[in-house]
Amino acid sequence: MNTDVRAIVERLHSEAPFTDVHVHPSMKAWMFGRNLWRHYCSGKAWNPFSSRSDFKTLTKGGVGTIWAAHYIPERPLFDNCLLAKIAAALLVPDSGRLFKGSLFQRLNEMMDALEREVGRKPDKVEVAKSAADVRRIRGEGKIAIVHAVEGAHVLEGNIDNLDALARRGVAMLTLTHFYPNGLAAHVDGIPKDMFIRKLCDFKFGAGGSPSLSEFGRSVLRKLKAVRMLLDISHCTPEAREAIYKEVGRDRPIIASHVGVKRYRDDPYNLSDEEIRLIADGGGAVGVIFMSYWLDAANPKNGLPAIWNTIEHLHSVTDSWDHILLGTDFDGFTDPPDDLRDASQVGKVTGMLLDRGLPEDAIKKILGGNAQRLLETGWR
Ligand SMILES: [Zn+2]
Repeated sequence: MNTDVRAIVERLHSEAPFTDVHVHPSMKAWMFGRNLWRHYCSGKAWNPFSSRSDFKTLTKGGVGTIWAAHYIPERPLFDNCLLAKIAAALLVPDSGRLFKGSLFQRLNEMMDALEREVGRKPDKVEVAKSAADVRRIRGEGKIAIVHAVEGAHVLEGNIDNLDALARRGVAMLTLTHFYPNGLAAHVDGIPKDMFIRKLCDFKFGAGGSPSLSEFGRSVLRKLKAVRMLLDISHCTPEAREAIYKEVGRDRPIIASHVGVKRYRDDPYNLSDEEIRLIADGGGAVGVIFMSYWLDAANPKNGLPAIWNTIEHLHSVTDSWDHILLGTDFDGFTDPPDDLRDASQVGKVTGMLLDRGLPEDAIKKILGGNAQRLLETGWR
């Protein structure tokens, strides 16, 4: 990137804070006891020990706001995979912790771990408790952190836990994840080409649950009551259909880290009809930074696939208002070779400039749309 473009990218990131609506630094902080002010390693290869969204890396990339997805790994991931079990026992400090106490308790420990790291440099990073907070924190030149929860298994069937999460400032709930959770049906969410899948039969039981249970419907109503955003990533197409019907245009629906069926026809990804439905309700689609989901034909480089996905979302909705970026960095994912960690996200901004997008469209994609959703769907 030449210096002129770099200056424009920096200005755009300051005017419309680059917002990552799905990223997992807290998982590294909680599982490995990591200091998020240190950068460990990125690398091109899949590496569960990499650090792709630590605060140093976020700062370097000019990321302004993150929606930190807190995900407590489901127990069968370890029970069904001896390698994962051994790796956890050997490499995770005090690994018994990963399974000790209730899921909800562990979720709170993960949020505590992130807040502990934030607390090391409160002049640089701050946790936001409202959309107005995000604006203020950005105005002070700090990175704004928004809590989000991935996988409603952590509710443990207790709807009152949503009140507690709302009080703690959680802005969004991803309904499902890898295993049945008695709420909504899930898709197979781990790429089939990952070597760990060849070694382990995770017994995901994808699609085996009812699309949307009565408890799932009550969670949807409760999310509205406590003003928390709803994320349908990982739900099956049938579950998503049931959710679109249940929610209607009542409030925005988000798919925080997905691709589109146009480029990879997988149940994980969205059809054009769904993209239109989400847009009609004022929601938005977060483009995942993972080539596997984005483009079956281009498994390596992310930038062209990200562009194709963004362009497709635009052509289907005839608008730039429904596009977000949800990298999934540090979610034990395999990021694209050309976008290995958060320090490189300026390349996306550079690409959007290069493709001739007007600045107001770029600003919406970078952070404007995400902020709009916080203003309308959170508090
Ligand atoms: Zn996910």
